[in-house]
Amino acid sequence: MCFFPKSFFPFYQMSEFRQDIVSGDWVLLSPRRALRPNAFQKKRTIRKPSPKKDCPFEDLQKNGQWPPVIVYPNSEHWKIAVVPNKYPALTYGENGEHSTLFRHGIYQLRTAVGNHWLLITRDHNKHFAELSGGEAARVFEVFREAHEMNARDKSAAYVTSFYNYGAGAGASIWHPHYQVLSLPVIPAHTVHSIRGAREYFKKHGRCVRCDIIKAERRSGIRIVAENKHAFAFAPYASKKPFEVSVLPKRHWPSFRETPPEAMRDVALLLQSVLRAMKKHLGDPDLNFFIHDTPLNDRESRYHHWHIEVVPRVSTDAGFEFSTGIIINVVDPDVAAAVLRGKKPGKGPEVH
Ligand SMILES: [Zn+2]
Ligand SMILES: [Zn+2]
Repeated sequence: MCFFPKSFFPFYQMSEFRQDIVSGDWVLLSPRRALRPNAFQKKRTIRKPSPKKDCPFEDLQKNGQWPPVIVYPNSEHWKIAVVPNKYPALTYGENGEHSTLFRHGIYQLRTAVGNHWLLITRDHNKHFAELSGGEAARVFEVFREAHEMNARDKSAAYVTSFYNYGAGAGASIWHPHYQVLSLPVIPAHTVHSIRGAREYFKKHGRCVRCDIIKAERRSGIRIVAENKHAFAFAPYASKKPFEVSVLPKRHWPSFRETPPEAMRDVALLLQSVLRAMKKHLGDPDLNFFIHDTPLNDRESRYHHWHIEVVPRVSTDAGFEFSTGIIINVVDPDVAAAVLRGKKPGKGPEVH
């Protein structure tokens, strides 16, 4: 059920980033998103597999999303296709259009020109955890190609990729799909994170995430899983219950510059984490996203790209909104033990 009549929204309006004059953070205003078939629907049932006959991704040509931007292995027998989103959060920069900064009284805004692509895997039901290892690694290679293409776009300052699993995590279509967006601004989350990494580097001469991997491997308490090139753990100050970080063990600032063997191990380890969540947490709705370094940023070398997996098992309430401080009701030490399939208990932590 729609809360507002659709005529309420100025669909003709271009997307724009408005800057909060106090915090400096950017907010994306995207009126066209309200046109999505399920926008504002109160009750969604998409965690039940939807019938194939109703699925817009079964015939991309008919859905007006063909030809694709990237296709693997070929158009006829495609297994992975990257296509433009029909309801983009940003405005596609057609005819070489770039993002422009405007003054708006005392405020400023930036036209939200950029790409909003969907990476679609062919099988209607196989979500990321159910793909074969080879298929999962291929998804990551296609993500890399999409990041490389967006990095060549002069308007882009940052490329983000993510996956919504379940209505509670924002997915509006059952068929497995991932999203890649190029933004003309660097998100506040990334700005804060890189600032912290730079400060740590200045003080200690080392990458903070390389040090975290070392410390977490030494203590063992918050390890969720690892393989040769990748590491997964519950962050010491997790903001959400059962949040997990997955990252390459070696220091790679940028996602798209990571060698294939490390990329493959990250994809496989991410699958293990998602399977553990399904098994031990009752298949929760969740998001995962690639936290990459900004494009063309001199500070970027301090960053160590990683993936954050956030199951949607809690809701922010008044305290979180009023303070910005998140109450997490699950100790990350316990979260890691649960995801390892062990009874929670204190191990020998080395400080
Ligand atoms: Zn489908
Ligand atoms: Zn590092």
